[in-house]
Amino acid sequence: MSKRKLTDQQLRRIRDKQTKASSTLNETTLSAQQEGLIISHYGQQLDVKNLEDHCVYRCYARSNLPSLACGDRVLWRKSIQENAIKPPSHDADSSDNQLQGVIDQLLPRDSVIERPHPHRGLKPIAANINTLVIVFASEPEPYDNLIDRYLIAAAHANLTPILVLNKIDLLANNSDYLTRFSHYSELGYTFLKVSSTTSENIDALTDVLVNTGSIFVGQSGVGKSSLLNCILPDAHSTTGALSNSHNKGRHTTTTSCLYELPNGGHIIDSPGIREFGLWHLDKSHVIKGYVEFHGYLAQCKFRDCSHKDNIKGCAIQLAAQDGLIHPQRLASYFSILNSFDEAVQK
Ligand code: GDP
Ligand code: ZN
Repeated sequence: MSKRKLTDQQLRRIRDKQTKASSTLNETTLSAQQEGLIISHYGQQLDVKNLEDHCVYRCYARSNLPSLACGDRVLWRKSIQENAIKPPSHDADSSDNQLQGVIDQLLPRDSVIERPHPHRGLKPIAANINTLVIVFASEPEPYDNLIDRYLIAAAHANLTPILVLNKIDLLANNSDYLTRFSHYSELGYTFLKVSSTTSENIDALTDVLVNTGSIFVGQSGVGKSSLLNCILPDAHSTTGALSNSHNKGRHTTTTSCLYELPNGGHIIDSPGIREFGLWHLDKSHVIKGYVEFHGYLAQCKFRDCSHKDNIKGCAIQLAAQDGLIHPQRLASYFSILNSFDEAVQK
């Protein structure tokens, strides 16, 4: 669904209205502060799961707070009087929703994934995440160096990558394809071969996600939504459960959602994350995604070496010649570095 872009002036007006909305709150109609977790993000409104009663409350964030994201831990206060909090009138979606609380404070984040925003610098899209699940399949074929690009992004964002080859039911007679990516296991990455259609190895995938915050990335059509449905069959019904019976409305314009796993841990899904690419990375970050190069870097005798262009005596080149670096990885390293050079020349 295409999203209408707001002008700076419109954004200012929205913020002014929000300030008015929160400033008209009578503090005596609010409970004491409680700790909560943001589980859904609908633009101006957020669903907060209260850590005490595990219920979900539709809230506004005070206007002095930074942008919030799913996975953020917050301090918030419940409205103890019906209709005490009025949504600003600009929010057409909110007409049938009573707001149930106000978010006062963002608690410190362990990590945050951000995306450039045209008017507001970087915008957070998921917080407190540690695992990047990189999903790929034989159909559609991964585009050039897709996995290595995600590994660079994961290293730069301090996320642990997990490689998931989905749709292995299509590969029954194609053992070549199954071994094509085996060097990633040799590099120490967790690499699972699964099928959301037959449920093969879905339990193993669920197990590696326990007690971690994760996001799923990969090309459109590789089966991310199918895998999420396999792992979280009740996701939609549980996240839709609002705490209050008078609260009948449900937003249709969810921008992101946090799904809790039955045995601990959670997955955040959002359109912004599905497009997760090499955001605001530059050339100097590329090598971070090549873990097997790191041990040789100090041995390179050239200062400021880019370790490419077949420079004689470069430690990375020597290691590759000795078979210590996989030729596919060296080629992808060159190719990704070159793509930065080409982008600069354009
Ligand atoms: P997404 O765009 O990454 O979320 O991909 P979807 O989950 O929408 O799946 C895209 C298509 O691949 C759908 O037609 C699914 O039925 C199909 N699909 C997903 N997982 C599998 C699988 O394990 N095996 C097969 N054969 N098809 C799958
Ligand atoms: Zn070098």
